[in-house]
Amino acid sequence: MSFIARVALDTPLDRLFDYLAPEAEAADIGRRVEVPFGPRTLVGVLVELATHSEVPAAALKALKHIDRDTPPLPAELLALARFAAGYYHHPLGAVLASLLPPALRRSGRQVAPASLPASYTLTATGRAEVALIDARKPAQFALAARFLANPVANPAATSVANPVARADLNDREKALLRDWLKRGWLQGHVVPVQPAHAVRIPTPTPDQEAALAAIRAAGAGFSPWLLHGVTGSGKTEVYLRLVAEALARGEQALILVPEIHLTPQLSERFAQRFPGRNLIGLHSGLADGERRAGWLAALRGDADIILGTRLAVFTPLPRLGLIVVDEEHDTSYKQMEGMRYSARDVAVWRARQAGVPVLLGSATPALETWKNARAGRYRLLSLAARAHAQASLPKVRLIDSRNDRPKQGLSRALLTALEATLQRGEQSLIFINRRGYAPTLLCNGCGHVFPCPRCSAHLVLHRAGVGNAAGYRLVCHHCGLDTRPPEACPDCGSVDLRPAGQGTQRVEETLAEHFPEARILRIDRDSAARKGAFSAMRDRVAAREVDILVGTQIVAKGHDFPHLTLVGVIGADQALVSPDFRAGERLFAQLMQVAGRAGRAEHPGEVLIQTRYPGHPLYQSVVRHDYPGFAEAALRERRAADFPPFVAQAVLRAEASTEEAALGFLLAAREVGLEIGQGMGQGVAQGVEIFDPVPALMVRIAGRHRLQLLLQAATRNRLQAFLGHWLEALAPLPARGVKWVLDVDPVDV
Ligand code: ADP
Ligand code: ZN
Ligand code: ZN
Repeated sequence: MSFIARVALDTPLDRLFDYLAPEAEAADIGRRVEVPFGPRTLVGVLVELATHSEVPAAALKALKHIDRDTPPLPAELLALARFAAGYYHHPLGAVLASLLPPALRRSGRQVAPASLPASYTLTATGRAEVALIDARKPAQFALAARFLANPVANPAATSVANPVARADLNDREKALLRDWLKRGWLQGHVVPVQPAHAVRIPTPTPDQEAALAAIRAAGAGFSPWLLHGVTGSGKTEVYLRLVAEALARGEQALILVPEIHLTPQLSERFAQRFPGRNLIGLHSGLADGERRAGWLAALRGDADIILGTRLAVFTPLPRLGLIVVDEEHDTSYKQMEGMRYSARDVAVWRARQAGVPVLLGSATPALETWKNARAGRYRLLSLAARAHAQASLPKVRLIDSRNDRPKQGLSRALLTALEATLQRGEQSLIFINRRGYAPTLLCNGCGHVFPCPRCSAHLVLHRAGVGNAAGYRLVCHHCGLDTRPPEACPDCGSVDLRPAGQGTQRVEETLAEHFPEARILRIDRDSAARKGAFSAMRDRVAAREVDILVGTQIVAKGHDFPHLTLVGVIGADQALVSPDFRAGERLFAQLMQVAGRAGRAEHPGEVLIQTRYPGHPLYQSVVRHDYPGFAEAALRERRAADFPPFVAQAVLRAEASTEEAALGFLLAAREVGLEIGQGMGQGVAQGVEIFDPVPALMVRIAGRHRLQLLLQAATRNRLQAFLGHWLEALAPLPARGVKWVLDVDPVDV
């Protein structure tokens, strides 16, 4: 008999809290509970039942409420949360709180989903019932006919239900709909479901067939796969087929994508392929109600396919049968605040714990992943060519900008290619990874550039407004500071201040001067800031209302622009001189991805890269579309330098209002770490190297000084063994005014 409920609460304390709960039973493990906590009521998750507590009986308080309207979190998910809490050294209560949708973190009853689904399909009961409605009830009969109309059989989907969009119904029909919902005849879909007749399913290519056959042959149970193939080689088609097979087995599929609002095409493709299936999108851009509704549908087992960003890796899925991580190399899978997890890594652990296959897909796998595949820990599947018989890979040409010197960022060769593409009535994309007008404002008198007073970064010149009314602003990309540029240099008084370098806005302006007839569209974080702006832009490109696109990396990700045949890349060299050892890996991935935008359909594409280093091996690999060649060379360098993935790293980050405070804390932390090595913890510290504290890449943001301490060991296990001891010893260290956090497997050191 148990009387004590152990509850995980979202507090900084890494422990469970005991409450009296005479009525709690084993079936309540994993349920949301409300408990008194000081003067407040907190929501937590009941994770254990016990017969006694260390807390004196008189001090124990009683549980306030157990939410039995919501199914408990599955044991598999609780285990995953415990694992993540342990590996990333984050309190379990905080992990569990962060995996609940925001609406369910609040106390108070939270039962019915608040948001309305966009479309509806019949349930099995509904199908049987509405077929019996007779024509003497014309309104009901007509509505039934709409749900039953055109059920085109689709071999990839196991359901043939016809979706009806809420927006297409009048008030009378909506009233009927409510009634049918109450009777359980209908199922709502938060993401609109497409009718079945739109889909054409291609026959797999031999490469796709081989990949599918290998995965099928591995059968049920955990198996990790890397699906390597260039953009357009048909990876998504493989995902779709695997999802179809999982659904046919009655399982749920979890599909992770880097940024869902940038990949609406993927979500549409899934919706079209699986009409009548409950497809749920989960990402941070959703309204609270939508997110809660989607999450609950997943937890209740109603959702069939979950398509989401990194946070979706923790979605409760009682029938989980398959995990796909698309663009697995993408850095947005790494959470940069709170628990700094890698959703890709968590996905692999989850697949292992749940005993299901996990498929990582990419044209440019993370070096970590490539190394695992080479070592046989993941099985490698390759799609060699583009899936469309007609579509070939774009031709990549390097423009030596030492000979063909760019004017305002654009070389002769690039301008000529743009001209020719315009003549042919095709689209071009200029890729430049800097938003704003110019990276700096420069004093021509003394060379002064304008630093942000609060950050260790230059202010970026932006153009606000249009035409004659246009003005300039100096903006900090780190703290948001936004000021009017001064009339004169604060150092020498010169009024000859000039923009230096290129940003998207300036390139847009220059292009407009060169090609006054061309319709130019800029896509970057500034122009796409408004909700819906991005998809509106995408539609304009698809409708061929745009001739030249100018954009940052947000255009590079997963968009299919069939009439885009020229890609120009400017300013890429920057990454080659970056102090970040991962900059090259990221640049290669970006270039391959942006090159993948060219010539996706019947049109062959061309990619021009302006560079001062045309002989650089990285660019040479891009020209040959040779990821393996790039990866092997990069891995050799990493091995020689003792960098990940050949070592495991963790970083202790500290920030404070003064450099001394942050440094003092890190020095003390280092001292504590070294003592572990000398004392009884010698074993656990063996092979763990603790470096000296150093300034972070961005030393100062918004007036806060940031320093970091790097730890490195030969393996993750070694490092983990040490981190446990170390963090325990760190907890009591005085950290006045210092905010510190541990980042395991950091991606920016
Ligand atoms: P990726 O995910 O690797 O970028 P996709 O799966 O999106 O590739 O495929 C690229 C294009 O090729 C899509 O238009 C897709 O419909 C088409 N495609 C994929 N597989 C086949 C196939 N087996 N036969 C014909 N077309 C295909
Ligand atoms: Zn000056
Ligand atoms: Zn700033």
